[in-house]
Amino acid sequence: MKTATRMFAGAALALLLVHPALAQTGPSGAFDVDTATRAYLDTLQGPARAKSDAYFEGGYWLILWGAAVSVLVDWMLLRFGLANWFRTAAERVFKRPSGITWLTALLYSLVGAAIALPWTIYTAFFRERQYGLMNQDFAGWFADYGKSLAISLVIFPLLAMAVYAAIRRFPRNWWLLGTGIVTAFLAVGMLAAPVYIAPLFNKYTELPAGPVRDRIVAMAAANHVPAEHIYLFDASKQTDRISANVSGIGPTIRISLNDNLLKRTSEAETAAVMGHELGHYVLNHVWIGLAAFSALAGLALFLVSRIAPALIARHGARWGVRGIADPASMPVLSICFTVFGLLATPVTNSIIRIDESQADAFGLDAAKEPDGFASVAMKLAQYRKIEPGALEEFLFFDHPSGATRVRMSMQWKKDHVPGAQMVVPPPMPQSGPGKE
Ligand SMILES: [Zn+2]
Repeated sequence: MKTATRMFAGAALALLLVHPALAQTGPSGAFDVDTATRAYLDTLQGPARAKSDAYFEGGYWLILWGAAVSVLVDWMLLRFGLANWFRTAAERVFKRPSGITWLTALLYSLVGAAIALPWTIYTAFFRERQYGLMNQDFAGWFADYGKSLAISLVIFPLLAMAVYAAIRRFPRNWWLLGTGIVTAFLAVGMLAAPVYIAPLFNKYTELPAGPVRDRIVAMAAANHVPAEHIYLFDASKQTDRISANVSGIGPTIRISLNDNLLKRTSEAETAAVMGHELGHYVLNHVWIGLAAFSALAGLALFLVSRIAPALIARHGARWGVRGIADPASMPVLSICFTVFGLLATPVTNSIIRIDESQADAFGLDAAKEPDGFASVAMKLAQYRKIEPGALEEFLFFDHPSGATRVRMSMQWKKDHVPGAQMVVPPPMPQSGPGKE
């Protein structure tokens, strides 16, 4: 009986290895990276692929239109004398420059957000819903939006107070101190975000005990990452997107996975994603990110410190802006930042994408699940175009595309799995990108 079972198992294994639908090898019998990659990419076809492409490509235009809307709002605040009015009103309440700056910044952010609200509602609510990514009703979404606006109304006026104090003290070289201030705000924000900010929007609980947690703990231990806490959060309340992240810095650093990931992926896929997140942790990407974005902020502030005074010299009298140290100059500085941010989009995307690619490579080594990572990369096509051109990926992708990730996985498999066999990729969910 025992022999019969073993023979049957042997026959089944042989069938698995030779059956063309179940296992394929290249003509020479070697695992072929191109064929294996194509098999995955071809699971996304027809309307599902068109929808994924349309959602992501539409996002390219949103970058441009978003910047245009921001510049338009700032221009309106200057042109119609509102910035001047904010500062004059603040001067009636406060005597000290710091108080005047604080209230001007508060009014500026509040009125700016109100003017831009239709655009915000379209991009963040209706468009997401149109593509089946939004799980909240309008009231729920608006409550979350209100919370994030409230947080920015607390933080932005404080940042403005510090930056304008630097401008008053060092009228020409304030950008140097300004870079330090922005870096400090970034660092404190990163430190506080997982503890004080994220729980305002989602419920964070310990990932329950079970095979998935055991697997993550084992991977973390193998890579010397402390893993006494692994968090699970209820992202499905807001969105259908599959995601996980490393947040915090120093003492607050942690790995969190969202419930969509846990619900909609296999153990192999979850392990592949968590291997990637461990990569961010081990490779110190939060510190690298902080350094890179501080350097970029330094460049932005330097350019603003040179360009904004020229704009004010030319149009300031008409706008009622007395000089760069006048807090009514906030929309002028904002216009400069917006244009810089737009032009720097490929740079910021590339800074993030390089880290992401390193985390991908790390994750493959840590989880050893090339097919799991390839199939989860396909699932992310729900919100990211699967197969862009090389220039398109460089300009617009802050994560490697699905095609890049599948290829990297298949290459890893060829290089690390002796006698690698091609598996038939799991079919994409029937309804394709969007609601399942
Ligand atoms: Zn990542």
